[in-house]
Amino acid sequence: MSQPHGSPRLLVRGSINIDEFFVVDHIVRSGETIASTDYSRRAGGKGANQAVAAAKAGAAVDFAGVIGHDGGWLRETLGEYGVGLSLIEEDDKTPTGRAIIQLSSSTADNSIVLLPGANFSASASPHPRLPSSALSSYTHLLLQNEIPLQETRRTLRDAHAAGLVTLFNPSPMPKREDLAAFEWGALDWLVINAGEAEDLLVALASEEFAAAAQSKGPEALLRALRETSLRSLTGIIMTRGAEGVSCSLREHPGETMQVSAGKVVGGVKDTTGAGDCFTGYFATLLASLPGKVSSDEGASVKLVKHCLVVASQAAAMCVETPGAMESVPKLGDVITRMG
Ligand code: ADP
Repeated sequence: MSQPHGSPRLLVRGSINIDEFFVVDHIVRSGETIASTDYSRRAGGKGANQAVAAAKAGAAVDFAGVIGHDGGWLRETLGEYGVGLSLIEEDDKTPTGRAIIQLSSSTADNSIVLLPGANFSASASPHPRLPSSALSSYTHLLLQNEIPLQETRRTLRDAHAAGLVTLFNPSPMPKREDLAAFEWGALDWLVINAGEAEDLLVALASEEFAAAAQSKGPEALLRALRETSLRSLTGIIMTRGAEGVSCSLREHPGETMQVSAGKVVGGVKDTTGAGDCFTGYFATLLASLPGKVSSDEGASVKLVKHCLVVASQAAAMCVETPGAMESVPKLGDVITRMG
């Protein structure tokens, strides 16, 4: 668990979207036109969501992403949350990534059309403001999988070579062949949900191996992941919704750490963005740990556990209110809730 020197600074390289919500009686059928009874527009995208969560957790964080000709207001939104904007590129020939979300008021179902838009802009991948020389201003890098995978891989390799601590939340899951070819050796921390853990095990081992591990529960699933090309990772974190979080540390490959879900007050309203809240918080808390925590194994386990507990409480508070960025609590409120 080595860490570069200097005060922590987090870079999030990822997606940014305009999320448009249309409330409808039912999800529109082929050939049908229906009226929407409500509409709202919000900033979204896993990269931007995680950068905002990191800023709310108190990180010094920059977001590196690409908006299109219609996305200028997203800059302001991220800036208001305290995210650094210097690495946001604008491609004026492309629309911003966009999610068109139908929410059914009768069945609570949803359906989503996703336009990758500027997130996949050919002129901005590689990101023009993020040559490898720019990475040395950061101590930690956080990645997801909503931009071209070759760009994620390039950034990961460059960051690892520059000595940054690297975190990856591979959501949505890459294809099996891409997972098998991925440079896991450049990665320090992996954050996945339970379904993704299983998919990853299928890709890196086999269907039979994954099914056998899965049937024995989450601890067995994590231990099985440690037997694949993920064995060198400092930490593998598996989020399990209301069941909490499990974590495997390289120094203790045979054991797994379990953290219960945080306290939810007033019931679960909307789980959108809970994973992003958890990941942005965890990256920030990890970055704030003293360097070289691995030199004292007992202390490092305790410190990592503390990061997981606080990030879980933040994610639990995130499900109490609708939205992805809006519902992420500030660190002070999370600490107050923890009592
Ligand atoms: P994702 O949203 O990526 O699928 P999860 O569903 O595992 O990820 O949720 C991420 C984290 O959010 C969980 O580990 C947990 O800390 C928190 N969380 C999600 N749902 C709940 C819930 N119903 N109650 C409390 N915490 C929750």
